[in-house]
This record gives sequence, structure tokens and C-alpha cells, in this order.
Amino acid sequence: MPLKKLVAGNWKMHGLSSDLAEIEAIASEARKYPEVDVALCVPAILIERAARAVPGFRIGGQDVHQAEKGAHTGCTSALMLLDAGASLTIVGHSERREAQRESDSQVKAKAEAALSVGLSVILCVGESLEIREAGRATETVLTQLDGSVPNRIGGEAELAIAYEPIWAIGTGKIPTSGEIAEMHSAIRRELRERFGADGGEVRILYGGSVKASNAEEIFAIADVDGALVGGASLTVRDFIPIVAAAAVRS
Ligand code: PEP
Repeated sequence: MPLKKLVAGNWKMHGLSSDLAEIEAIASEARKYPEVDVALCVPAILIERAARAVPGFRIGGQDVHQAEKGAHTGCTSALMLLDAGASLTIVGHSERREAQRESDSQVKAKAEAALSVGLSVILCVGESLEIREAGRATETVLTQLDGSVPNRIGGEAELAIAYEPIWAIGTGKIPTSGEIAEMHSAIRRELRERFGADGGEVRILYGGSVKASNAEEIFAIADVDGALVGGASLTVRDFIPIVAAAAVRS
């Protein structure tokens, strides 16, 4: 039985009050596809207004601090995200792993902090072009999984994995269907080895230049249980056709 697909948008550092109307339009169109779970991960400062604007629609954060509270200037705790109305958060996005030098163990602590308060997590992994060309993509992604996936899953809050090859993010390049299939099946194998039957229930999303024109082909690949979408999630016009493609493959 295939898992219900999850299509999550990552708005990165985009979004002002004037964009709330776009979020409302996305939420309203997404309701036409109940066979797909849809979410938007918006800047932390927009979460509360977005969540109020679209009650019942999943609004998420893009990062979370691992500590409960304390002297962490500029950071946001899991409880703060929840309090603002988020129901999920991204952790370990490659832009943060690179620019903020986040390690696997930090990403794991962030995921654990989020799950512990009931926030679902989309945990990102993915290799650089250099690593893929060196033939070490699978080994690298499995090492990231090993170091960053929490020890316990299967509670009320959900853990999903997003496989996002760094070289495919925002570039318009995507791996071949065979490459995506190979990586997702390696991730699935690893999750089953580690968590048994629960590992079969973890949704594995693909991320990196997903658009209306390639979404259906990507969603047809085994063990692709959804997508994490950056640029194409910013407008209802670009995002909803991706949700519709997921519905076709549900
Ligand atoms: C992302 O940054 O998570 C992403 C997938 O971006 P894009 O869809 O723009 O490649």
C-alpha cells in the first residue's frame, strides 16, 4: 500500500504580510486534493499570521533550535514554533548544513526537540555534485541518515526524510529517475533495518527543482512519497499543479 503523498513547500527567506493572500489561495486550492497532504514551511516570523489565515492547513517552520529555551540569540525553539501555530518543521536543510555549518548530531538534536513537543519533522539529506561524481552519493546520504535521524520514531508527530541532492536545488537539474529510485530505495532499506515496520511508514520526499513539468514522473518512482519544493512553492500557479500530480499518483 503506497503511503499518502506529502507535498511541502519551503518558502526559504521569502514572504511578507502581502503574501498571506497567496498562502490563502494555496490552502484553498490544496483542499481540492484531500488524497495529498500539503504543507507550507514559511519564515518563522510569518508562521503565526499564516496559521491564523489558513486554519486547518499545515504551516511549518524551516529550522528549530535543539534547546528548550535559554541564551540563544535569534533562535526559535520547538515550543515557540508550536505556540505560533506550526505543526511541522524542516531540519537539516543543505543551505543550513552549509551556511550555518550544522552537523549531523545537531540536526538529530533538532529533530528530537521538535518531535518531543509534537512537531512533525522533515529531515533533509543529500549529496554535493562533487560527491556524486566521485561515486559516493549513497554512502554519504546513508552516513547523514545514520548521524541525524533520531533514535525513536513512530510517536504522534511524524518524521519524514527529504532526499535533496544539493546540486539539484534551485538549479533546474534533477537526477535521473533511476538515480532517484536507487537513493530512495537505499534510504528505505536503511530505515527498515533501523526501525523495522515503522521504517516502512516513514515518508521519503524528493526535493530539488521539482516543477509541474517533472512532478508526475518523479511521483511515479517507487518510494517517492512526496516532494519538498522550493521555488515552485511560492505561487499557487506553480505549486498546485505539483499537488495535482501527487494526487494522480496517490
Ligand atoms: C529546497 O530548497 O528545498 C528546494 C527543493 O528548492 P528548489 O525546489 O527551488 O530546487
